[in-house]
Amino acid sequence: MTASDAIVVGGGIVGGAVAFGLARAGARVTVFDEGDVAFRAARANFGNIAVQGKGVGRPEYLRLTRRSADLWPTLAQELTERTGVDLGFVRPGAMRLCLSGDEWNERARLMEELRADAGNLGYDYDMLDRDAVAGMVPGLGPEVVGASFTPYDCECSPLYALSALHGAIIGLGGRYVADAKVTHVEAAGGTFAVTAGGQRARAPRIVLAAGLGSSALAGPLGLAMPVRPERGQVIVTERTRRAIPMPLGLVRQTAEGGFVIGRSAEDVGLDDRTTAAALGSMAATALRLLPYLGGLQVVRAWGGLRIMAPDAFPIYDQSADFPGAFSATCHSGVTLAAAHAFDLAPAILENRVPPELSSFTAKRFGAAIADEDWVASKAP
Ligand SMILES: Cc1cc2nc3c(=O)[nH]c(=O)nc-3n(C[C@H](O)[C@H](O)[C@H](O)COP(=O)(O)OP(=O)(O)OC[C@H]3O[C@@H](n4cnc5c(N)ncnc54)[C@H](O)[C@@H]3O)c2cc1C
Repeated sequence: MTASDAIVVGGGIVGGAVAFGLARAGARVTVFDEGDVAFRAARANFGNIAVQGKGVGRPEYLRLTRRSADLWPTLAQELTERTGVDLGFVRPGAMRLCLSGDEWNERARLMEELRADAGNLGYDYDMLDRDAVAGMVPGLGPEVVGASFTPYDCECSPLYALSALHGAIIGLGGRYVADAKVTHVEAAGGTFAVTAGGQRARAPRIVLAAGLGSSALAGPLGLAMPVRPERGQVIVTERTRRAIPMPLGLVRQTAEGGFVIGRSAEDVGLDDRTTAAALGSMAATALRLLPYLGGLQVVRAWGGLRIMAPDAFPIYDQSADFPGAFSATCHSGVTLAAAHAFDLAPAILENRVPPELSSFTAKRFGAAIADEDWVASKAP
């Protein structure tokens, strides 16, 4: 049986970031990752490191998101230095285009609320009129009345980020075991023994970061991870010259030049298929923002499943019954990757959840949650 300092279950962007953080802090890490048969949001997302609009009514989440975005330049640089992978990381800020005066007013109200919630951290934003936006974003649709702007937001290629995390874990001496679904975890005498894809491993720490696969493993370890799927669909166009300077909410342009158009939010259970209705509606909105997108060929579209807690905020816990067992899940795993690597992982090595994350315990949901109620199989 292989011995490690920590076993991470799930090699998505959450498990990958935590495992990288553990490995760079000196731990021997083993990551078990189920493989392509699993639902894997880390391979289906938009690539925004999104701050704007995050944390309404939940200042701890606003601070966590801001902190992670601030740590991202360091994460991107370190991953590139360790692996040679260019993550396509930039920090241009972000705009959310508004299609009516009412939307602009509501956006202004929301941004002011966020500024109030941010307290002494501060929250820089601008509410821009159409002329100001048009000066930066050519080709606006006639309905665009303006936009909200924040300087904190970043973007990256999520697939390169994931690949760089895996490469860095291996470069630091860790093990990334693909096609290895964890089916059984035994806790005894302060050690966790894991069975995964015909392999056995043990460690004094285990981190459940298996996205929608976490719920099933959490209960026996005295953890609760009541997550449910929310489908998001994405359209990608052919590559073209650089036309927008930053992500525009529902539209972003990748480093390679393709436009990524998003993104639906659908409660359809474990069904990650695309639908003409959602793709058509997303495309129609994108054309109202930037009509010239209609001249570009669509090269692909996909659906992916977000991992949502009941209140849509992250869950971080250490098991009271089995100390050394941790949970980590969130719906914005790209955005929070730097905080997971640099803040959460070193604390896990010290057998604790960092105080700034402690309010994200699943205890906030009370006793009335049973994991099996959450990831309901509505798959066709
Ligand atoms: C359309 C869409 C757009 C999005 N856009 C953004 C965005 O712009 N910015 C952002 O921050 N977030 C975005 N997200 C969310 C982001 O993708 C997720 O928050 C993130 O991928 C979650 O990471 P994860 O590692 O928890 O889960 P996943 O990425 O789903 O990874 C879970 C991993 O666990 C493995 N696994 C499952 N069960 C087991 C098991 N029993 N044993 C071993 N391994 C197991 C799976 O193989 C998988 O690799 C988006 C999501 C979608 C669907």
